[in-house]
Amino acid sequence: MIDDAAHLTGRVLRISGGTYHVLAGDAELECSLRGRVKLGELAVAVGDRVRVERLEDGSCRISEILPRAGTLTRHGVSRRREQVIAANIDQVAAVAAVCSPDPDFIMVDRLLVLAELDGLDGLVVANKADLVEEPEALPDGFDAYADAGYEVLSTSATSGLGLDRLDRRLRGRVTVLSGQSGVGKSSLLNALMPGLDLRVGEIGERKRRGRHTTVAAALYPYGRDGCAPDGFVVDTPGLQYLALWNVEPAELSRAFPEFRPHLDRCRFKNCRHREEPECGVRVAIEAGEVSERRHRSYLTLLEESEGGA
Ligand code: GDP
Ligand code: ZN
Repeated sequence: MIDDAAHLTGRVLRISGGTYHVLAGDAELECSLRGRVKLGELAVAVGDRVRVERLEDGSCRISEILPRAGTLTRHGVSRRREQVIAANIDQVAAVAAVCSPDPDFIMVDRLLVLAELDGLDGLVVANKADLVEEPEALPDGFDAYADAGYEVLSTSATSGLGLDRLDRRLRGRVTVLSGQSGVGKSSLLNALMPGLDLRVGEIGERKRRGRHTTVAAALYPYGRDGCAPDGFVVDTPGLQYLALWNVEPAELSRAFPEFRPHLDRCRFKNCRHREEPECGVRVAIEAGEVSERRHRSYLTLLEESEGGA
């Protein structure tokens, strides 16, 4: 594909009303759509890589969606409605604070499950590490994530601890950053990119809207202070509350990576790892190989996905 004055390739940063804000090279273009027919059944999503035509009057319109990889979707709300939250996502970073506020582990688990269901990488950021006695140590309760195979980064937006490691994880990738309000998401981004100038509390905050939580994603070019942007951070307000519906129990249990080696050991093929006899997952919990707390989160999400929440 050749870019010239009339044909550009870019990435959709955000969508507001009918306007698509596309980053093409260094320029942010305000684009319209060339019409649904041309784009097929796909609706343009934030994160999409698109072809843009510049018309004679100088206006821009999207003419094509380029193939997607790594799509963050909404699960099971309705088969007919648009399920894509953001396209071309590499990873989901679940941010929690080691204290103040105390970590909401089920929220972290929910975010990691959303990542697993879509085949995206997950990582855990334990921020405000400056508030505990041993800032470098794996904070209480976060060991379950390391045991499950996730990278856990202890960070402090205040002291700068762990920011180099976080930067290395964000560089060159498209990362959804989500978590409870007040854990320091905006502060971390400001510490990494002083030019961004986010208001503290700005990332991820929009009101929870019950069942049909609106998740309007927006991409921010990511580049550490002084470096050219080479990745994107994705803000997805409401994602941390996004409920799961109609997710198959087997799929949900596979979304807990530490359960996987034990799933073949359940007596019943359709075991939901609740009260069933000879359940491989529960045996693993008793043997201390699987975290009881993660299993409780699994049970909560299972009930929710069955419509019981
Ligand atoms: P957000 O809602 O997740 O974006 O969180 P904010 O970035 O708005 O931070 C919430 C509060 O926590 C603010 O008062 C920050 O100054 C404070 N904060 C953020 N990061 C840290 C940190 O690493 N250590 C400490 N001690 N406070 C922090
Ligand atoms: Zn089982």
